Amino acid sequence: MATVQTATGPIDTADMGFTLMHEHVRVGWPPMYQQYPELFDRPAEVAQAVERLRAAMALGVRTIVDLTPIDLGRDATLIAEAARGSGMQVIVATGVYYTIPFHFLLRPDEDMTALFVRDITEGISTSGIRAGVIKCATEPEMHEVNERVLRASARAAMQTGVPICTHTFPANRTGLDQQRVFKEEGMDMSRTVIGHSDDSDDMSYLEQIIQGGSYCGMDRMGIPFPRTSEQRADMIAALVEKGYADRITLSHDSCCNFHWADQKTIDELAPDWKLTHISTTIIPLLRERGVSDANIEQMTVKNPAKIFGGN
Ligand SMILES: [Zn+2]
Repeated sequence: MATVQTATGPIDTADMGFTLMHEHVRVGWPPMYQQYPELFDRPAEVAQAVERLRAAMALGVRTIVDLTPIDLGRDATLIAEAARGSGMQVIVATGVYYTIPFHFLLRPDEDMTALFVRDITEGISTSGIRAGVIKCATEPEMHEVNERVLRASARAAMQTGVPICTHTFPANRTGLDQQRVFKEEGMDMSRTVIGHSDDSDDMSYLEQIIQGGSYCGMDRMGIPFPRTSEQRADMIAALVEKGYADRITLSHDSCCNFHWADQKTIDELAPDWKLTHISTTIIPLLRERGVSDANIEQMTVKNPAKIFGGN
């Protein structure tokens, strides 16, 4: 048995249960919080997160992995308040997004690795909350600074034993670039999830990711572009048919609080983009396509526990 850190303390991987591998309690743009704090209502954000996390829990979800990086507004104490209020087990991330992390621009790579390691082993800032996973991202393509981020992420993951879960831009097959860097660093690829793979309809790309040893994160369920829920379900069913259920995870990349748009715009553009869509819609679509309950348990329970070091 292995232990994983959550916002509210360590748990056994055997107790993770139905796990959504890529979600967010809040995604925003941090400069706004410092410059215009009056625009944000923290208690309201916690309340909205609690309500949405509870809705997912009512459908059987027990754990979410919050993959918000440092530079998209990760807030460990806000996440912990939402976890405590709802009862959801929430794994918190460290790591940075694909945009240039200026803090590290002219600092040695070791500083980036050391900060990630500190978040994981000691806790984030003064919160005492330890990160349990590293997030990194590559879009639209890998550039020099991004490659430094990927290498620092791999080094911190190997030092601490936590997995890496990524954001990719599948149109440019950036998951394969990430795999190459992780392999060069010596990362155990079975502890990596190449995210947003369900934005691709290219079976050869997806099979290359799987054959490279990673999991395919099918983690944009409910976002109607570039692919519908039916198209995403078709592709997952085809991979399961080929025997790859043990290489797939499911999630929505949803945000309990999303500051890049107002709620009206989100509801118009992506009405199904919520923490409950896999339970209410995707799993039935998979069943219609011949995916068994054992396969579904593999993707939603067993694979997440393994990625976090369980059996
Ligand atoms: Zn995300």
